[in-house]
Amino acid sequence: MNIFDMTIHELHTALQGKQVSSLEATTAMLARIEAVEPRVGSFITVTPEQALADAAAADIRIAAGATDVLTGIPVALKDIFLTEGIRTTCGSRILDNFIPPYSATSYEKLKERGAVLLGKLNQDEFAMGSSNESSAYGSTRNPWDTSCIPGGSSGGSAAAVAAREAIATLGTDTGGSIRQPASHCGCVGLKPTYGRVSRYGVIAYASSLDQVGPLTRDVTDCAIMLGAVAGHDPKDSTSVDTPVPDYAASLTRGVKGLKIGLPKEYFIAGLDADVQKAMDAAIETYRRLGAEFVDISLPHTDYAVATYYLIATAEASSNLARYDGVRFGHRAEADGLLGMYTKSRSEGFGAEVKRRIMLGTYALSSGYYDAYYVKAQKVRTLIMNDFITAFANVDVMLTPVAPTPAFKIGEKVNDPLQMYLSDIFTIPVNLAGTCAMSLPAGYSASGLPIGVQLIGKPFGEEAILQAGHAFEQATEWHTRKATI
Ligand code: GLN
Repeated sequence: MNIFDMTIHELHTALQGKQVSSLEATTAMLARIEAVEPRVGSFITVTPEQALADAAAADIRIAAGATDVLTGIPVALKDIFLTEGIRTTCGSRILDNFIPPYSATSYEKLKERGAVLLGKLNQDEFAMGSSNESSAYGSTRNPWDTSCIPGGSSGGSAAAVAAREAIATLGTDTGGSIRQPASHCGCVGLKPTYGRVSRYGVIAYASSLDQVGPLTRDVTDCAIMLGAVAGHDPKDSTSVDTPVPDYAASLTRGVKGLKIGLPKEYFIAGLDADVQKAMDAAIETYRRLGAEFVDISLPHTDYAVATYYLIATAEASSNLARYDGVRFGHRAEADGLLGMYTKSRSEGFGAEVKRRIMLGTYALSSGYYDAYYVKAQKVRTLIMNDFITAFANVDVMLTPVAPTPAFKIGEKVNDPLQMYLSDIFTIPVNLAGTCAMSLPAGYSASGLPIGVQLIGKPFGEEAILQAGHAFEQATEWHTRKATI
């Protein structure tokens, strides 16, 4: 078996058995990156020196008896995570030469465990997008069909896993940015409950929605990565101080008697036939495994996309005010302070980011604040209450991740509204603050992966991981590999 085809747990076994060293594994990954990057473009920055140094250090730890499952495992991070001394662009020209002076807590945690950093992954600019096309560094291509988008905004994170350029990756999810690319690239992707993972050192898009989470080859790896980054962080006051379960240890409980809700608002007329087919097959599989299905309703689903695009843009307009040519990033030459601000921001930000800043600034401006921002906050509460009510009767929910498989590069780029609607099934989960996972569940007629989404109760990651694991044991979708 090729090293680059391995999961975390497989490579861990090989490292422990001394069949391979971390240095050999890392060298194999770097060679793989070099071979497929011209076709995929998952990375903004590859860090071979860092990777080889990390691997050498991991080998010393392993030789001294270290048995940590992450020691020596080559991973990569979305370029939204601050990495001390390593360029971090967030997919934006405005941060083109930004070298962070400190690291994100999630990166620190992986480092402490002995993981190896291969590099920083492509993404939509400031995580605003569903296709990776808003990146200032070119769009990543879907390894299953390079004429298609990999999804976004963590498109590089998903494509790198699918193209086997990293064993596992981290992304962030504000409205679907882990789950939708995971679905389009045939990987497992989990957005944890808001507060489960520290956001410290993660460049902020919409702070009340952003969460960090893993993209992996299988559910076991997903549980391992989630366990590694979850937990309270004194540096992020929104991270919650509840114990982190041993996610990987509790995977095998099965789904007998599990009550799975099917929200009727998610099975709409426009759903792609291949997506519907994958959904039907998933329901059948769960039935066979002994789960019970309950029809439920999330009545305010229709308002989720509009609500999200008010709240997320309002928060973004505030968060992105710091990129002004003084404190961070690109600085243009111009007459006077105001001219310098204007020119720096005009040159530094791309079209989508500008659109969002304008939308958000408008929604927050006096005279419109009550009509838009405050109203959106109220609808957010209604959406949250929908989930609380529905979860009184079910353990988890099962829905599609995206209404269609991956679309063509260029197809929606000039139609922002169509692009925004591709997150219709993922956005409500962020507004409600709960957790959800995308699982490989089939392929379209043209061979593109399709994911299904398991939604859990707040801090119910264990339940969705268990349900996901049971599904994975009963199917073979996650074992297929993109030929790239
Ligand atoms: N596609 C959504 C957006 O553009 C979600 C992005 C995300 O989750 N970061 O805002």
